[in-house]
Amino acid sequence: MFSKVLIANRGEIALRVLRACKELGIPTVAIHSTADANAMHVRLADESVCVGPPPARESYLNIPSIMAACEITGADAVHPGYGFLSENARFAQILTEHNVTFIGPSAHHIEIMGDKITAKRTVVELGIPAVPGSEGAVSTDADALATARNIGYPVLIKATAGGGGRGMKVARSEADLLVAWSTARSEAKAAFGNDSVYMEKYLGKPRHIEVQVLGDGQGNAVHLGVRDCSLQRRHQKVWEEAGGPTISPEERDSIGEICAAAMRKLKYSGAGTVEFLYEDGEFYFIEMNTRLQVEHPVTERITGIDIVYEQIRVASGEKLPMQQQDVQFYGHAIEVRINAEDPQTFAPSPGTITFYHPAGGVGVRVDSAVYQGYKIPPYYDSLIGKLIVHGRNRDECLQRLRRAIDEFVVDGVKTTLPLFQRLIKEPDILAGNYDIHWLEKFLAENK
Ligand code: ADP
Repeated sequence: MFSKVLIANRGEIALRVLRACKELGIPTVAIHSTADANAMHVRLADESVCVGPPPARESYLNIPSIMAACEITGADAVHPGYGFLSENARFAQILTEHNVTFIGPSAHHIEIMGDKITAKRTVVELGIPAVPGSEGAVSTDADALATARNIGYPVLIKATAGGGGRGMKVARSEADLLVAWSTARSEAKAAFGNDSVYMEKYLGKPRHIEVQVLGDGQGNAVHLGVRDCSLQRRHQKVWEEAGGPTISPEERDSIGEICAAAMRKLKYSGAGTVEFLYEDGEFYFIEMNTRLQVEHPVTERITGIDIVYEQIRVASGEKLPMQQQDVQFYGHAIEVRINAEDPQTFAPSPGTITFYHPAGGVGVRVDSAVYQGYKIPPYYDSLIGKLIVHGRNRDECLQRLRRAIDEFVVDGVKTTLPLFQRLIKEPDILAGNYDIHWLEKFLAENK
């Protein structure tokens, strides 16, 4: 096992990783920017190193500083959390070259999945179903027109290097196509420095369903079921469910096994998420995230498996301690993301938390790194806590969620809690009847 783990992140996820290390008996090193000197992850870690000024590219994304922090403290492994350097193949490679273990998949697997065309080609070869679309990049007007005609309108043009929903354009007919295609290319060039785009069939009312996988890099892999993350705003997930309201146990096992088998063939190591759009009973691959996800706790809640603990164990060279038949699913879990944002306009609301009372009681878990008196800095994402609720079934889970939302108090800054108070009364939400466009429509109609 590792002698010391450096946590290359901040906020609730740094704390989450720290907790798993503590349970494994591994000393921890927190890194932080000057803006985070008083943060909870710094206070709770065994050691801490300041790696730079507030802007993330000078601190949490500053590879030379983080390497120096490993060197000074003698950390022999780094957990990247999510965001920041978690899907940076170069970072994984540099760590490996310096005999520090990157707690995550190989640089090679990160690279494959980071390029959408290569990712799609790879997973299709491994037997995972994908959205019908172009074979690789579409690079000329003639190619774009022919491909779209072949796929059938509407089509979606996507950036190969895309992320966060940027560089995507829908073309509903031939009249739109060339404009959409060239706009997507110039947006992709501006955002990612790469104007390569590809084309897919545009699905009109899909749900976002994702499969959690776990591999040990030695050819063993399991799936931990599915999550429904259809409630999104601007491609950001807002509310996530495990034991999804529309996916039957048979469908879960079948898509899960397809993904687990693919991971065995790849010899994938660590946690990963295979994301799909789901429409009319069919799954269509959109991307694979080669890291821990924000919404992982709902899966932990219904399987009893500590995903971070397992990530660390497999990274240290241990075999996966379970086989598929050992993974059991129990009940239903929902996570809501409490952001320091205006619940109407979603404008960030940094500032000091003057009163903080998290929810508690049966079936409730709160992953957060804030405390009363904590000053939320303006430099990073606005997630201040995740409320995760479990019940024996979805109805019980919703009942508990309603009660937990009412109990939760964060004063001093605006938060998205009032949004959840509204959502939990909506008949569509109660019935589990929503697709990936539902929340945007709801927000537009209920200003
Ligand atoms: P990114 O990496 O930019 O987040 P994704 O491929 O994950 O890109 O797509 C982001 C979102 O765009 C998806 O969650 C979904 O809402 C929408 N989307 C992606 N592909 C399609 C498609 N073929 N049809 C309809 N919507 C899509």
